[in-house]
Amino acid sequence: MQGFILHTQKVKDEDLLVCILSKTSIIRTYRFYGLRHSTILSGYKIDFALEDNPRFLPRLKDVLHLGFQWILHREKMFLWQEFIRLLYAHLKELGEIDEFYFELVNESAKRFEKQNPKRVILDSYLQILEFEGRLHKEFSCFLCDEKIKGDITLVRAFLPSHKPCVFGLELNRIKLENFYESKNCAIFNDEEIEKMYMLVKEGL
Ligand SMILES: [Zn+2]
Repeated sequence: MQGFILHTQKVKDEDLLVCILSKTSIIRTYRFYGLRHSTILSGYKIDFALEDNPRFLPRLKDVLHLGFQWILHREKMFLWQEFIRLLYAHLKELGEIDEFYFELVNESAKRFEKQNPKRVILDSYLQILEFEGRLHKEFSCFLCDEKIKGDITLVRAFLPSHKPCVFGLELNRIKLENFYESKNCAIFNDEEIEKMYMLVKEGL
């Protein structure tokens, strides 16, 4: 089967605990040292098999790294792994999950080839918020509950608020509405993208 490595953790010498996002679940598995292995890094897309282990987590085997064309592009790989870390923190407690997440990550990896990675991550994040029913298209302030007129101040998880109510990122209302409709952040300039990306980094 195929999956994305969300997280690895070294245990005893060279053994690894590996957390994988597959199409249908978050898999926790164990890889023993000593066999001939391909490299395993968070963010990698792999083809793999699992071998049941009654006494512990299933064993990870037959790992084949399915590389991206941009994998040697340092900055892209750095941002990719940052995105994967955020996803791991967001999904790690789950077992079975909707195929949405695998497809989203797969699609994002493809878009990384030609597009600005931060823009890809922002678009993907918006899809996550919408899928999870957390995208606030009605602009009411999460603090005081009153309607917001004019521009919108966003905080972590893109919660909307009034500017005086909270310290956050102020964004043009029309642009934000456009972004929420199109799921494409093209309307924002690079400076705005940088700031929005910092919000995403606070946690999904
Ligand atoms: Zn308010």
